[in-house]
Amino acid sequence: MIKEIVVELDVNGIADITKEVEEFVKNCGLNEGAVLVFNVGSTGAITTIEYEPGLKKDFPRIMEKIAPYGDNYEHHKTWGDDNGSSHVKAAIIGPSIVVPFRNGKLLLGTWQQIVVVNFDTKRRNRKVILQILKSI
Ligand code: ZN
Repeated sequence: MIKEIVVELDVNGIADITKEVEEFVKNCGLNEGAVLVFNVGSTGAITTIEYEPGLKKDFPRIMEKIAPYGDNYEHHKTWGDDNGSSHVKAAIIGPSIVVPFRNGKLLLGTWQQIVVVNFDTKRRNRKVILQILKSI
C-alpha cells in the first residue's frame, strides 16, 4: 500500500505530517508493521522532532551553520544553481525514516513528530511517499 502527499513549504519550512501518516496507517488494515516515509527530491528531508515554535527556528539555524548558504559550493559550477547548501543539508538529515506501528498506532514518543523539511532556496511543493511495510 502506497500513498503520495504534497506539502507546500517556504525556504527552511518544516511541516508536521504525523496526522497524515497516522491516518494512512489506520486505514491500511494491518495491526502491526512499519511505515516508510520518503521525501522525493534531493533538497528535502524527513526526520522527527518536537514540533514546537522554538525548535522550528533552532533546527534551520543550526543547519545553516553546518552548510551555510553563501559558501562556495562546487555544485553551483555544475548547474549554475545556488542550492549547494540545500543538497548538503538534505543529505545529512536524509530522505526517509521508517516508523513502526502496533494496534494501528505509530510507536512515536509523546513529543516526537514526523516532519518534512524544505532545504531548497525557493518555495517548493515537497512530495512525500508513504508505504506500508508488512511485519511477519
Ligand atoms: Zn542543485
